[in-house]
Amino acid sequence: MEKAIDKARVGFSQGKSAKIWISSPHMGGSEEFYVKRAFESNWVAPHGPNVDAFEEQIVKFTGCGHAVVLSSGTAALHLAMILLGVEKDDYVICQSLTFAASANPIRYQEALPVFVDSEPDTWNLCPQALEDAIKHCLSGKIGARAQLPKAIVAVDLYGMPAKWHEIREVADRYGIPIIEDAAEALGSTYQEKFCGTFGDIGVFSFNGNKIITSSGGGALVSKTKAFVDRALFLSTQAREDYAHYEHTELGYNYRMSNISAGIGLGQMEVLSIRIDQRRRNFARYKAELQEFEGLVFKDEPAGSHSNRWLSTLLVSPDLTAGITREDIRIGLMKSNIEARPIWKPMHLQPLYKEMPFVGGSVASSLFDKGLCLPSGSNLTEDDLARVIACVQETL
Ligand SMILES: *Cc1c(COP(=O)(O)O)cnc(C)c1O
Repeated sequence: MEKAIDKARVGFSQGKSAKIWISSPHMGGSEEFYVKRAFESNWVAPHGPNVDAFEEQIVKFTGCGHAVVLSSGTAALHLAMILLGVEKDDYVICQSLTFAASANPIRYQEALPVFVDSEPDTWNLCPQALEDAIKHCLSGKIGARAQLPKAIVAVDLYGMPAKWHEIREVADRYGIPIIEDAAEALGSTYQEKFCGTFGDIGVFSFNGNKIITSSGGGALVSKTKAFVDRALFLSTQAREDYAHYEHTELGYNYRMSNISAGIGLGQMEVLSIRIDQRRRNFARYKAELQEFEGLVFKDEPAGSHSNRWLSTLLVSPDLTAGITREDIRIGLMKSNIEARPIWKPMHLQPLYKEMPFVGGSVASSLFDKGLCLPSGSNLTEDDLARVIACVQETL
């Protein structure tokens, strides 16, 4: 097996024209130790010491209070909906500019997503549009029922913390709980507090493309222990405490395996280094490309420290002699470099086109101009130089 891995590695890193990925896994070194330990002790199971230790490390790093690790970030978001009592025909407010996994769990519960625009500083949920959306829900302007939304899904997109102070103020005024989708923001901070801790419930993802990975997985975190305890119960088939299998509630098989947790546990040891490396990517792109008129690399608002999960930029064709973000992306693709447009807003997706949207054109205009550059913590100086040279050439 090791030989096969070595071969794959050669494909990843050798040569002047080797593929540069947008965000690929980057092992720190001790992951295999923890996985091996699981094999040696025969904890090849959906529970075990790596699971407990991984949860402990997440709590210790972020100060999130309590954590349960799960099979994916999407599973964590689904359980968050259930914990907050989201049911058929309820309204749930959701940031439109995000990955579909932020919104899909609303539909798993047959609730109605109400998509809300972003603000331009952080690209996250606009507090003013959030309040408008709540008022529309209450007045019956949105759908058949005039009612308060059951929850708010707010995201820290690309690792950038949302305007938590303002969002929390609006949510509290109406008494609506917040689900913080911090899938992309593990290790980011806002006013010295870690992302994932601003919602009533926080969610992380350890998918293969995230800042650290367990090969696939997620976590649900909260200061409220009862939420985390209940998520653990629901994620393990809602099995009651009897010798036989007794069930009074609908359960799920959403727990993380002890093998995956071993990888995640090893990755926690290098999380701080990974953040520095990703931030270095952004700083390098900005330093070498910001001279071009029409390219904008967004600075962090005061008080925010982003993990810079992905390095993003905005391309304004009216200032680049017509060069669009697609021209830059295709130029990179031709050089075997993976880049992607930023997330397409949910209210523009065929899947969600019938759903209500509140706001203006911030999210859609970000989508028109936004591009994600290769951002892995394992990019070499040569890789970065190749990306930069390719963008310069297109411009
Ligand atoms: C990755 C991601 C998720 C889903 O996490 P998975 O672990 O892949 O299920 C949810 N929301 C956002 C914003 C993400 O980027």
